[in-house]
Amino acid sequence: MPETCPACGGELKWVDYFGRWTKWNQFFNEPVIEHEGDIFECQNQECLLCWHTLGDSELKQGYPC
Ligand SMILES: [Zn+2]
Repeated sequence: MPETCPACGGELKWVDYFGRWTKWNQFFNEPVIEHEGDIFECQNQECLLCWHTLGDSELKQGYPC
């Protein structure tokens, strides 16, 4: 899991993960989401960039589409 911002070296905070719905879990009555990547936010107040990973890929700037 990435810990530092590639742009400024600041601390990254995990915000959320994203993925796609694969099916509906009828037992728990919620979607089954296949994990595709994670979203991070830089904690440096002068940077505040968002990053995301996709699978095992490197950090990419911005939110996933
Ligand atoms: Zn940063």
